[in-house]
Amino acid sequence: MDFVYDDQNIFAKILRGEIPNKTVYEDEHALAFHDIAPKAPVHVLVIPKGPYVSMDHFCTEASDAEIVGYMRAVAKVCEITGVENGFRAISNAREDGVQEVPHLHVHILGGRDMGPMVAR
Ligand code: AMP
Repeated sequence: MDFVYDDQNIFAKILRGEIPNKTVYEDEHALAFHDIAPKAPVHVLVIPKGPYVSMDHFCTEASDAEIVGYMRAVAKVCEITGVENGFRAISNAREDGVQEVPHLHVHILGGRDMGPMVAR
């Protein structure tokens, strides 16, 4: 599959500092920030710093260091946000995944029982 990255997407603008965000965690490989429309008491988005559209794009083309760094950042966010009781990690991709922003992001949702996995 050919993956095409649009660098005008809103998360690319956040990474370039063109749009503000409420940062939860940042390191060399990842940025995590509060979702602007939270669906749970904890709703944080974790994005890689590289130009990847989706999880399958990232896992196909990112370097080992980027992949490890990103996944460690997800763990850091779980620690920082205090979701010891559990959380849901979601990464929507393309049309059927109902992805709104075409830059890979994992939603970390928690702070309450997250209910059924899929609504429809
Ligand atoms: P998705 O459908 O998985 O692509 O979800 C995109 C998410 O990005 C949604 O939950 C939005 O509320 C969130 N979002 C969109 N713009 C911003 C922004 N400027 N800052 C933080 N979150 C945003």
